[in-house]
Amino acid sequence: MLDKTTKYRFKKKLEELKSIRGQHTELISLYIPPNRRISDVMNHLRDEYAQSSNIKSKQTRKNVLSAIESIMARLRYFKEPPPNGMVFFVGMVGEPPKLVAEIIEPPMPINIYLYRCDSQFYTEPLEKMLEEKDIYGLLLIDRRECTIGFLIGSRVELAAYLTSRVPGKHKKGGQSQRRFERLTEIAAHEWFSKAGEKANQLFLEKGDSLKGVLVGGPGPTKREFVNGNYLDYRIKKKIVGLYDTGYTDEYGLRELVNAAANDLEELDVIKEQKLMKRFLNEIKKDSGLAIYGEEEVRKALEMGALEVVMISDALQKFKVKAVCKNCGYEINDVVEKLDINCPKCQLPMEIVEKKDIVEEYAELAEKYSTQFEIIGRETEEGEILYKAFGGIAGILRYKLNGL
Ligand SMILES: [Zn+2]
Repeated sequence: MLDKTTKYRFKKKLEELKSIRGQHTELISLYIPPNRRISDVMNHLRDEYAQSSNIKSKQTRKNVLSAIESIMARLRYFKEPPPNGMVFFVGMVGEPPKLVAEIIEPPMPINIYLYRCDSQFYTEPLEKMLEEKDIYGLLLIDRRECTIGFLIGSRVELAAYLTSRVPGKHKKGGQSQRRFERLTEIAAHEWFSKAGEKANQLFLEKGDSLKGVLVGGPGPTKREFVNGNYLDYRIKKKIVGLYDTGYTDEYGLRELVNAAANDLEELDVIKEQKLMKRFLNEIKKDSGLAIYGEEEVRKALEMGALEVVMISDALQKFKVKAVCKNCGYEINDVVEKLDINCPKCQLPMEIVEKKDIVEEYAELAEKYSTQFEIIGRETEEGEILYKAFGGIAGILRYKLNGL
């Protein structure tokens, strides 16, 4: 598993590469797995070079050839690929054309060899690495409804919703009590079979990625269902626990995850929620230990006074250094948009340095041994962090005066 900061950085880099467009088919993506010999790659590139000399458009030909040359020049520094292999993204971009050349050493080994020349970079294989591997199955059941879903990272997904025809507790007039009970049991058995079949199908599809199954619902029905032979033995083995929830519809899925929090302590989503709860509790107590907002958090962090910093992954902010070419005015600031006009002469300023704010905080946190957490917006707590606290918050090690 990748840690969240690595993942975040990797994701941002891929987004950047993905947004680049070439004028024509002239951007090269080259995937080299760890076991590929550099000399083989060189031979292949020589072939591609020869073929590309036939490209009709002069400009495109020139661009493709210089991209291949650039890759070959860089490859000469390698005796063999790095442990996880490497990926080249190289091409001439923009007007006037400027060479973009990125060598990425992926956080996990790549297993394909691939050369592609296209009007955009081919990033899908790397994006796949970012997909969450750990999945939990969620199942809610009572005698009326059954909802099946998944917990993927911090995201809860609905997969199926079924309703039953099991009669209610009260019998209609005319039927004998015993006959009514027998009919109800038959209907319940059919209902459980139907729900079990759907759950087996959906859960087994996930194979080894399915790390566990949480079962919930009000009252004793869920236990009756699990104890009966409705679930496949491979699914039964993965049941983490049975939990009481008030709802058995889609809303209950999140309730189920929360109810299972103690059994899933190692999951990121649970850690995030706990941390945010602690923060909100400090706010409520007015203990002076909870702080938020870009400026305040940065100040406390740089004083070494911060125990934890929490930052929303939805934050789109940059720390930039910008200079006005006209009057020389310079700003160092945190901004949301990168088109900045000079406050003095109103002309567009040139960005000389740019850093993603999440990146900036990750580095600061490391420097001051502060716990650093990137928090997604998928949970209620994550949404609160983003909306109510501007996406940046922290818990202090000790109370500060005058902050
Ligand atoms: Zn200016």
